[in-house]
Amino acid sequence: MKHTIYDAHCHLFHKGHITRRILHSLLDLMSDLDTLVAREKSRTDIENAQKVKVASLIKRIINVINLLMSSSSKEVMLKLKKQYKGFDVIFVPLSYNVASCFQESYTQDISSFSSRKDHELLMTVRDNILTLLDKYMHRLEHYKIFNQLQSLHTRLDELISYRNNKEAELDSKDIFMFQVNQLQELKSMYPDHVYPFFYVDPRHSQTLTLARELVGKDKPFLGIKLYTPNGYSPLDPNLMDLYDFCQSNQIPITAHNSNSGFATFVKKLEIKGAFYFDGHVIEHSGWIEFDTDFFSGPGAAIVERAKKLNHPKLWEKVMLTFPELRLNLAHFGGEGKDWQEIVIQLMLKYPNLYTDLSCQTEQSMLQYIKKKFFPLAPHKFLYGSDYYLNMFFIDSFSQYLTNFFNVFTEAELEKMMYYNPGVFLFDRQQSYLS
Ligand SMILES: [Zn+2]
Repeated sequence: MKHTIYDAHCHLFHKGHITRRILHSLLDLMSDLDTLVAREKSRTDIENAQKVKVASLIKRIINVINLLMSSSSKEVMLKLKKQYKGFDVIFVPLSYNVASCFQESYTQDISSFSSRKDHELLMTVRDNILTLLDKYMHRLEHYKIFNQLQSLHTRLDELISYRNNKEAELDSKDIFMFQVNQLQELKSMYPDHVYPFFYVDPRHSQTLTLARELVGKDKPFLGIKLYTPNGYSPLDPNLMDLYDFCQSNQIPITAHNSNSGFATFVKKLEIKGAFYFDGHVIEHSGWIEFDTDFFSGPGAAIVERAKKLNHPKLWEKVMLTFPELRLNLAHFGGEGKDWQEIVIQLMLKYPNLYTDLSCQTEQSMLQYIKKKFFPLAPHKFLYGSDYYLNMFFIDSFSQYLTNFFNVFTEAELEKMMYYNPGVFLFDRQQSYLS
């Protein structure tokens, strides 16, 4: 096994960055906890197995909150580095702008998102979490986990009050630029070990301009990050120049491409380009309305938005126009087996199309992928962690790594963790391919 490996998909967010996104995932975890505890009929008959599950969920939540409270991208990176024990790791941190999720139309000014809407969202999440916590405190107080819950309560309060103060200082646009600046600093501190990707939203012309300045060989950012369920189409006409620029300059793009993840909060959305519906790519520029409402059930809302705005059939259209585009459709479909079938076909057809297995936290899913898809395109799979978002779904980072080492052979891991990322990121043509 090589000593040097790539984590081709990670995030180095910290407490000043995108906490609302993370608070939402936190809320999901809390509702898992709710379901677990709801199964308990009375205080006395909580089974041991149930207690273990509750305790491990609480541990997970506390772990994530501790990560969230990190004060810089560097601190998060060093924490992640430690998790890889003996390996020399090269990190590919992807940036993100949560303000995208609030945007309804192209003309809306994103700097106005900061105050009222953000605050409302934060308060909804906070109230939900605190209600759940109070419930557990009362129900579980005679168990050992009571102490853990109390520390969770305290950490959450710290986080929320930090966020509220910070909110007053920075608007959403600043929060994104703050993230961009920190990644630039990190790149200058660790030039050979950090290759950040720059987040682009085609509705924000500034990001399109900055991409040309900041992204490329010998620039602070190596590639582009897209996250279309935030509220835009992969076929947005504003992205065409960017694809052209990336294709001509061999600039890699990583696009979130899973049937889950995160999505726009709005119900009515202005899009340009096309969306996917009922088995078809539908060309459309104008308003669309989602059937689901994000705040009455994020789960179903995310699935609907992922399908409409990020279905791999939309990306197939992008590849038809830019067949040499160096694109990573990240997460290999998430849990969507139908998405995986399409992505593998696209990878077989287009030489520069890749996927990554970041945030695949279930060993059984990795086994399924290895058996069914990996042998078809072994040079197209990249390893990634999605740190620390993966920590919402698994008890420990060492378990995350162990899953990969249990499922794949050393030779396969070398491909995913070293050779393939080398080709995707730097166009290093590999002798091992011959
Ligand atoms: Zn990610």
